[in-house]
Amino acid sequence: MPGEPQADCLFCKIVRGDVPATIVRETETTVAFRDINPQAPTHVLVIPKAHHRDAASLAAEAPELCADILREAGAVAADEKVDGTGYRIVFNTGSGAGQTVWHAHAHVLGGRGFEWPPG
Ligand code: 5GP
Repeated sequence: MPGEPQADCLFCKIVRGDVPATIVRETETTVAFRDINPQAPTHVLVIPKAHHRDAASLAAEAPELCADILREAGAVAADEKVDGTGYRIVFNTGSGAGQTVWHAHAHVLGGRGFEWPPG
């Protein structure tokens, strides 16, 4: 069933508190925590508490959660004071694009300059 917790999913384990994480924000539907391997001074992951395998699945299965995640991404940027200079919200979707954890998540990156096109 879409949205059901998965026993072997790392981010479901973080939601349950079975794997420790530095949580910076939490709502009824989302958790935001620091990436274990930060790629910028601010690098926070915003995830739905419900399990959906990637951003496209999330949009198809629970579109209201997409708004929750983007709202929280903006709140993280404001909390971290990177909203003034600009920040990046990234959803790696599929292994060819760099997705390694199969639970939808937004990377919120800020605190340094960014190039376009991305690597
Ligand atoms: P993806 O590559 O799927 O877009 O992003 C997964 C992210 O999860 C990576 O940036 C990776 O550093 C992060 N990550 C992997 N394992 C852990 C963990 O155990 N704790 C935290 N906080 N982040 C993790």
